[in-house]
Amino acid sequence: MRIGASKKKYASSQQQLRDGNKLSIFNLIRKAPASRITLAKLAKLSPTTVSTLVEDLISTGWVIESETVNSNARGRRPIMLSVNASRGYIATVELLSRGYICTIYDICLNKISGLRVRNSPCSSTNISATICDLLRAKRIPLYRLLGIHVMFPGMINANTNELRFSAVISKEDMPESSFIQKLEKRFPGTQVLLSTNGSIIAFAEFISTEQRSSLPLLSINIDEGIIGGVVMCDRQSETRVCFPIEIGHIIIDLQGNICKCGNQGCLEALCSTVQLFRMVNDRTDMHLTYSESFGADCNPEAMELIAQRLVQYDAALTAVLSDYIYNLCCGLVSVVNLIGVQSIRIGGDIAVLGSTFLNMVRTTLREKFYPLNSTDSIEIELINSDYEHVRCAMVVMSMDELFKR
Ligand SMILES: [Zn+2]
Repeated sequence: MRIGASKKKYASSQQQLRDGNKLSIFNLIRKAPASRITLAKLAKLSPTTVSTLVEDLISTGWVIESETVNSNARGRRPIMLSVNASRGYIATVELLSRGYICTIYDICLNKISGLRVRNSPCSSTNISATICDLLRAKRIPLYRLLGIHVMFPGMINANTNELRFSAVISKEDMPESSFIQKLEKRFPGTQVLLSTNGSIIAFAEFISTEQRSSLPLLSINIDEGIIGGVVMCDRQSETRVCFPIEIGHIIIDLQGNICKCGNQGCLEALCSTVQLFRMVNDRTDMHLTYSESFGADCNPEAMELIAQRLVQYDAALTAVLSDYIYNLCCGLVSVVNLIGVQSIRIGGDIAVLGSTFLNMVRTTLREKFYPLNSTDSIEIELINSDYEHVRCAMVVMSMDELFKR
């Protein structure tokens, strides 16, 4: 019985390896059409292994053979392989506090269509209807919808896929907790994935930076809420892992504001963009219009106004920002010291403040804190706050899951 069990384990790890290799080949082809020989070199696999995997990808419709490349070399020209874009589509769903955004992508990450729905509850019924409308408008049959990936700004029960709690979506606007199960029922045959914003932004950073950033990397988005994720490297297996962290709810001031999570003095309660707007209105002559709602249109506009004023060296505004940044650095350094973070990426609406903000963060970290990592320094940059690359990461995550099935 023991032998049987270990054989089974061996077989499943062989299968995992094969699936993993197939996925890497697929991802390489997705980045740029390539020949089998090029793929073997890039993936560091034998030409025979690549041929077998490619045949599998062709027979299952993921990949098609396309035009040959011009080559000066004599002999047979290599056949190019490209992703069969029309093989299927993935819908991404972002839950906001008073509405949601649905976007449809093909498997080559081309955006097909999208819709932001405002002032409508994030119920499974409403979202299912929006997805169906978007597909119908592009004449895409339902069976071509391979996956739906839902991004939830809060905590989820990873075992049951139920939505637990969100600090940025109020109780009355929360989708039903069995939201995912209902989508699965509505779209049988379509893979429904649920992730938190933190794990998706960490993954987005993971696939966009490849080898460029020093690990561990902390990726943090600052909007109406604060979410984050970490990318680490397992030295033994050299595999990268990314996971969400509740950086927004690190307690940094015991006397601080009450947070929506119920604790006092969380980073989010002190450093959300809404809190910055509040501080700016209280302490400067600016009168920003802003909203507590997650994803409210007026908030990026308010941040833009701060950015414009910031470059004019307004003393009152600079004072507000240095207090804000001090609090932010308390949160950042806590994570740096906990897991030895080497690089930090800051995105979200706050990134609109640009280099003036970034330089203030760098100076504050350098002059007022002692990062306890292996190099005593932190590489820190702003990242594109555009959600388009986050959505593409959602599609790639869905594709990864599809290949694991
Ligand atoms: Zn909190």
